[in-house]
Amino acid sequence: MNEFALIARYFDRPCADARLAFGVGDDCAGVTVPAGETLLVTSDALIAGRHFPHDTAPFDIGYKALAVNLSDLAAMGAAPLGVTLALAVPAVDEHWLAECSSGFFTLADQVGVCLIGGDTVHSPVLSLTVTALGSAKPSRVLRRSGAKVGDLIAVTGTVGDAGLGLRAVLNPSSVPPFVDAAAQEFLRERLNRPRPRLHEGQQLAGFAHAAIDISDGVLQDLSHVLTQSGVGAGLNPNALPLSPAAKTWLEAEPTLRGLPWRCGDDYELLFTLSPHDWPSCPVAATVIGVIEAEAGIRWRHADGRVEAVQPEGFDHFAPATQAEGS
Ligand SMILES: [Mg+2]
Repeated sequence: MNEFALIARYFDRPCADARLAFGVGDDCAGVTVPAGETLLVTSDALIAGRHFPHDTAPFDIGYKALAVNLSDLAAMGAAPLGVTLALAVPAVDEHWLAECSSGFFTLADQVGVCLIGGDTVHSPVLSLTVTALGSAKPSRVLRRSGAKVGDLIAVTGTVGDAGLGLRAVLNPSSVPPFVDAAAQEFLRERLNRPRPRLHEGQQLAGFAHAAIDISDGVLQDLSHVLTQSGVGAGLNPNALPLSPAAKTWLEAEPTLRGLPWRCGDDYELLFTLSPHDWPSCPVAATVIGVIEAEAGIRWRHADGRVEAVQPEGFDHFAPATQAEGS
């Protein structure tokens, strides 16, 4: 099967979105940006063996390649306009392509976004690079730089699930016996099929002062907000919202308790907002700390102790052995 037949069979889908002037089939796609809105563009590559284990199901690979990019739009309060996909495959495996495209379009249909173009190439390493286009009113774009001293720091959903899910995938025998099959399935689902928080991001626009999506770990992603905003943070070490599955695991294995602060891939939103606005916060979220004037991150323990925190999380340029899977 040649490239054109492959694109036609697995990735050329009709799109009813009125904002799409033209799409797959021309040299470029044409998208109309809603009047008065800013175009927001993001691009993320997923590389086999680097960002996901080689034996990840192709459905999940297609789903996640789209999810992580939509999550970046969510973090800025944007609504998606369209996405492109550059797919590099070592071989034309029709079953693999059918599953991958099914995962990709399952999420695309859920959020109502069209694939408007892309490229397919032969490569020794499997990779998927998605570019996502979105838009928002300029005054409602969420940035990393807007955090103010005194703001509360909050996160949506639960964190740590994807990191524990990755442990379960890479080393099934390390899972404590109390973490049953349903809990493990939940954690793997969180790793492989993260739900981009597009709705929450748009609700937070014009309300939160700063936002970021949690891709590389709560501490690391928070540190980007702090650096961009020129502030620091004090965190409650016991405040991180955990799922029942993660709680069960961490109670059985207390040495992993720091992991949910540092592991990535949860794709929840971390944002800051004025404490006066917290009671009317439009999304379900958990407060984990407060923005402070002094640079850096500190644990503020309940007994009054203060302890400096090193914000390392997932490092994209670390040796592949450490990075594999995240
Ligand atoms: Mg991001």
